[in-house]
Amino acid sequence: MPRRTAATFATSGEVLRLIRSGEAVTRADLGRVTGLSRPAVQLRVGELLERGLVVERADAPSTGGRPPVRLEFNASGGVVLVAALGASRTRVAVCDLAGHELDGCEFAMDVEQGPDVVLPLLMDTWDELLGGRPRSTVAGVGMGVPATVEFAQGRTESARVMASWTGVVIPPIIHERFPVPVLVDNDVNVLAIGEHRGVYPDLSDLMFVKISTRIGAGVVAGGEILRGALGAAGEIGHIPVLDGGDVLCRCGNTGCVDSVASGTALLRDLRALGKDVMTIADVTALVRAGDAETMATVREAGRRIGEVLAGAVNILNPSVVVLGGDVAEAFGPLVSSIREVVYRRSTALATRRLRIEPSRLGAGAGISGCAVMVLDHVLSPEAVDEAMTVSALRRQSAASG
Ligand SMILES: [Zn+2]
Repeated sequence: MPRRTAATFATSGEVLRLIRSGEAVTRADLGRVTGLSRPAVQLRVGELLERGLVVERADAPSTGGRPPVRLEFNASGGVVLVAALGASRTRVAVCDLAGHELDGCEFAMDVEQGPDVVLPLLMDTWDELLGGRPRSTVAGVGMGVPATVEFAQGRTESARVMASWTGVVIPPIIHERFPVPVLVDNDVNVLAIGEHRGVYPDLSDLMFVKISTRIGAGVVAGGEILRGALGAAGEIGHIPVLDGGDVLCRCGNTGCVDSVASGTALLRDLRALGKDVMTIADVTALVRAGDAETMATVREAGRRIGEVLAGAVNILNPSVVVLGGDVAEAFGPLVSSIREVVYRRSTALATRRLRIEPSRLGAGAGISGCAVMVLDHVLSPEAVDEAMTVSALRRQSAASG
């Protein structure tokens, strides 16, 4: 069978990938790495320069001869619009093509107001944040939402958390104003992507667990986010715990870890003990004060979360489990009982090199995760080549018409 050589297949998109990754920084490098002829390299680089995805930089003259022109990925060649929606707080930003936030804001918003209210508000905010930048510079949109999402279509599925969003397909609505690729995933997956790329880029297996009003996880396996067949992978909140009893969960089952150990469950159980707690911050104050009943309740929640995580660790064998969300961030006793149970109950091999770490990016992981998600898509060789073909066809038809 003839070997398919890089020379035949290195498209402009592939050339951009080589420049972005630093594998090739001059035209000569590109020729060497791809096997393309000089005119072919010239043609592809020319297309990328014209689209503003690559810029040329002349190195300082060295002592002998003309210095080669360096090719660099142009992070300011466009922007992506991102939004990390939470149940009550939302972060919105405009990022450059390297995923750095150029402008952003955070505000309180109840997502239960529904897509008819929330999506126009998001788009207005993006328009404001764009400022003087024209909409034509927008290369893509990335969003994280607090619901289960059928990723391929951007359809929200979870009826119990964002009831007013059930079955809503988000991308076409955004398309009306921003006709670019729109990627939507659940909030925990974008946190996992952000933490993985921002803090642990060299590890290929990571589990991000968000412990907040709800409990959920995002799984990075083999370097890629694991979404499952329809986007429901990582829903660890609805795994039952051994002594969960008959506590009714919002999913309709009983004894799920979410129903007995989430932030919502902690508040409910502490109120039942007569504690005056309205928010997680109130619980934090009691933990700080060393209130024995509160500490015991929080440890119990940690033990139950640990029980479920131990099972997940056995299945997935991650290198690191990252604990995020306001509950995990606030409670030391919760985190230590999670650790204890995971190390005790997972197999020796799965925990030999396992690290259990607090989230380093906090809420910021949502924004950077959304940016990475959409940039990985719009800057992929396939997407770049497709965009080139589309603009070439437009030029052709403009010339002939
Ligand atoms: Zn459940």
